[in-house]
Amino acid sequence: RQSATPDLLDGLNHPQAEAVCLPLDTHGAILAGAGTGKTRVLVHRVAWLVQQGVQPSRILAVTFTNKASKEMRERVTSLIGDEAAKALRLGTFHSIGLRILRRYGAVIGLHNAARLAPMDQDESVALLRRVMKEKQCDLTIEKPKDHYQLLQSWKDQGLTPEKVPPQNNASDELTRHLYARYESEKQRSQAVDFGDLILMPNIIFAARPDIAEKVQRGLSQVLVDEFQDTNAEQNRFIGFVTGNGGAVKTFVVGDDDQSIYGWRGAEASIMQRFIDRYQPNHLVRLEENYRGNPVVLEAANAVIANNKARIGKNLWTRRVDAHPVSLRMYGDGDDEADAVAEEIADRLEHKVPAQEIAVLYRKNMLSRGLERALVQLGVPYRVYGGLTFYQRKEIKDALAYLRLVANPHDDGAFRRAVGTPRRGVGDKKLSQLTEQCRRNGSSLWTEASLEGKGKLPTFLEDVTRLAAVYRKEGLGAVTRAAVVKTGLLDFYIETAKERGEECAENLNELVRAVDVFHHRFRTGQTAVASVAAQPGDVLSEFLTEAVLESDAGGKNTNRSDVVSLMTVHKAKGLEFGYVFVIGLEDGEFPKLSSNGRGNIEEERRLFYVALTRSKHALYLSYAANRQRFGMRDDEDALEEDGEPLFGRSRFVSEIPQHLLLDPLQVEGNVSERLPAHSAARRLAPPTCGRSDDIW
Ligand code: ATP
Ligand code: MG
Repeated sequence: RQSATPDLLDGLNHPQAEAVCLPLDTHGAILAGAGTGKTRVLVHRVAWLVQQGVQPSRILAVTFTNKASKEMRERVTSLIGDEAAKALRLGTFHSIGLRILRRYGAVIGLHNAARLAPMDQDESVALLRRVMKEKQCDLTIEKPKDHYQLLQSWKDQGLTPEKVPPQNNASDELTRHLYARYESEKQRSQAVDFGDLILMPNIIFAARPDIAEKVQRGLSQVLVDEFQDTNAEQNRFIGFVTGNGGAVKTFVVGDDDQSIYGWRGAEASIMQRFIDRYQPNHLVRLEENYRGNPVVLEAANAVIANNKARIGKNLWTRRVDAHPVSLRMYGDGDDEADAVAEEIADRLEHKVPAQEIAVLYRKNMLSRGLERALVQLGVPYRVYGGLTFYQRKEIKDALAYLRLVANPHDDGAFRRAVGTPRRGVGDKKLSQLTEQCRRNGSSLWTEASLEGKGKLPTFLEDVTRLAAVYRKEGLGAVTRAAVVKTGLLDFYIETAKERGEECAENLNELVRAVDVFHHRFRTGQTAVASVAAQPGDVLSEFLTEAVLESDAGGKNTNRSDVVSLMTVHKAKGLEFGYVFVIGLEDGEFPKLSSNGRGNIEEERRLFYVALTRSKHALYLSYAANRQRFGMRDDEDALEEDGEPLFGRSRFVSEIPQHLLLDPLQVEGNVSERLPAHSAARRLAPPTCGRSDDIW
């Protein structure tokens, strides 16, 4: 084992330290449960590699979220200092893929690759909807979003339109036809969607081995966190950048019990396949959990033990500060939201920092009631995912102008901008232009610039002027101009009535967010910038961040002292002192379709992820009667008279009774007394054969 200065290995247990110091010329893998320090090992290994003399720019670390890469950079910086940490390549698959497209996109016909910013889901679905209209699909039956999702899942498997086999089912067959058309429309607009960010780099690498080799020569170590959730295309991507287990050494960490993206094509067996393919000389196992209290850990172990498809491992902890899991039933969703909000307010009064509190749920939908209750009590919070700042209509309208500045051929942005504020360019005119585009394979911008008179030339001039403002005065100025000079602000103040003020405030917030962003950009701290040594164009960086990390800016940007609300999927890899898991009704969590089907094992892994986020206390709750009106996928599960079909989640019943605090209590004070048992003793490390049964 090579030497390391002691401080880097401080605070690591023996197997963790061993993993951090694996020789430079080996592939490595850690397969271990939640909270055992996998991410910590990854961070320390990056620092250790730099200390061993590996050039920071030759290290690529892939995390699951942008938040995680930011945290990783911070933690590495504190270990090895700012100078060295700055040059590291850290990012998500998406941000790294985008980097590659910006650099090499011309190879596949992306003319303006350097300034590429992906479309977000709404824009992509809108594009698909236009294609469907053109094909005269009945949009009351065929939902664009469903087709979009299937199409994206094909992309996750590396299936370009010509590779998708004919489908048996009529609706899927329709998707197949739409897919080809959607792609050509996208190409015409010089746009890319989420799936393209991985698929297209792979296409480039496959077509141009010299480019793949160049990337490989530039790298020496690739590290991947949350490896269990990578899908086939992401794996191919790793294969390309590492030379398939060749010269670039690969180090992955993951937990099969936390594989929760099967619906996006991830396979729990991916870990095993990595081992088969890369033959890592070192597989490290970690079983000591440093996160949860012993009761929560025992509960999580008991629940996940019900899954058949798992490698099997048991976590233990030396902690003895057992706190029972609180379980509550409420009359309905509103009662639950009120009670949880009150409990949170109470924690805050007892000086628990807000950022140590999280509320997790299975479906985005459930955040609404909670938001209402938190607002009433004046509790600051942030919703991750859901309708975020950058998805608000007025913000998207302003961004449409910026997108046009970055890429005038972006038809989606053109449509949006030309329509708000109203400029008297009617639907008829637009359909006529669209028809011309189709005939000539051109963009709306190109066709519009051929118009001699009417409203269009004025619009084009406005946008051209914005582009000049951007060139001469920069991002802040062009954003201000897009909000004010285009008449957008006035338009909202005049037409949005009671929302007018809020819209105006949001638009102002956008201008502020841009300034904050600009500062981060200059210091190399933006999501995509951090993947590359060379910062890109500031406007496309900003547009990208608005899409890839839509909760990174806007309101509350500078506040970290807020309670977090998010889906369990979003919470993966994170930890909080106090975790509330709400909406634990059978059918909701596990999520089942109306005929009672679902992927129970994956749902259980998701529940396991939820339980294992908690460091100190865990609160579970469900409603006896949840109103499900307005939720399309569950409507038919509602009986005529609105009686609930679902009782409490089966997963709750899988937690041993003695770990729960007053399981039958409906409401009342939560006391933090210990139940009469010692979970700590039961969770002591096994005395013989520790971890030998893991494989
Ligand atoms: P997950 O599977 O949820 O992603 P993980 O295996 O990545 O979890 P980490 O997030 O790295 O686990 O670590 C969990 C917590 O335990 C963190 O707060 C971390 O700082 C702490 N921790 C990890 N290892 C040690 C250790 N040797 N000593 C003290 N604390 C540790
Ligand atoms: Mg982790």
